[in-house]
Amino acid sequence: MLKNIEGKVLLRSGVEMPGYGFGVYKAHGRELIHAVDYALGCGYRYIDTASFYENEEDLGQALKKCGLPRDQLFVLSKIWPTQFSNPRKALEESLHKLGLERLDGYLLHWPGLNESLRLKTFEYLLEAREKGLIAVAGVSNFLVPHLDELHRHFGIWPDINQIEVHPLFQQKELRKYCREKEIHVVSWSPLGRGHSLALPRIDSIARQVERSPAQVILRWQIQQDLTPIPKSVHEARIRENAQVFDFELDARQMESIDALDLPDHQGRTGKDPMEWPAN
Ligand code: NAD
Repeated sequence: MLKNIEGKVLLRSGVEMPGYGFGVYKAHGRELIHAVDYALGCGYRYIDTASFYENEEDLGQALKKCGLPRDQLFVLSKIWPTQFSNPRKALEESLHKLGLERLDGYLLHWPGLNESLRLKTFEYLLEAREKGLIAVAGVSNFLVPHLDELHRHFGIWPDINQIEVHPLFQQKELRKYCREKEIHVVSWSPLGRGHSLALPRIDSIARQVERSPAQVILRWQIQQDLTPIPKSVHEARIRENAQVFDFELDARQMESIDALDLPDHQGRTGKDPMEWPAN
């Protein structure tokens, strides 16, 4: 289990990545630059963006300003399915906007609905990894059939699958499958986009451990070896979300949160990867 915010996880390809991250979806301009600067000061080292977020240039500015050596940062971006027809161009654009020569992580953001473009794009990611343009080739929102398809074609499993995970939508089967294949799970919207914070059961556990609801949910993720990437642009919340390494949830509290999972994907805040988005 991760011991502190700068702790690393070893991925199946042998690369080490920070086991805790900071999301920047819907943050832009000065707000993003300040949030990233503050987050780096709190110890976050993995920053999660995507071409779809249209903030790679802002993030690039924040990284340039931060003064940390490049090898202490883990910058991850993603390629959107409409970019699958020219993945080389998409990666070049992301690198250019971020002002970087290489990305630490690059993921297919969603599987999309076109199998041959999906495979062609993953093949390009493997090529980019060979060339040293990216360190980790991964995927996001891939379900078991998508992962199996990659394995059938390339004979490998991706290092990372970034999927939606929070108390109301836990994706236990998919996570079990990833664990068996040693695919590391990064959980997006770990706080359920804020919706999970008001659940009475989370509130009650937060009172028991004298922590905030956000800290309880993030701790519940760490104790399951997930890598959460909470997002906030507010200093107090960014700091609070980083302070989750000095307390523990007991087995009963963990089970109580496990039981919040809703049946039939009712807790999903995003879309069904089998149906959306089209390429
Ligand atoms: P999140 O679950 O991190 O929730 C963020 C919201 O919760 C904030 O906007 C804020 O309103 C609230 N919040 C955060 N910390 C809080 C605190 N301590 N107390 C009270 N409220 C707090 O949701 P998200 O931003 O959707 O997801 C996080 C990151 O995951 C994104 O920034 C992005 O990097 C990534 N993501 C990836 C995908 C994907 O398809 N791969 C999809 C969505 C998000």
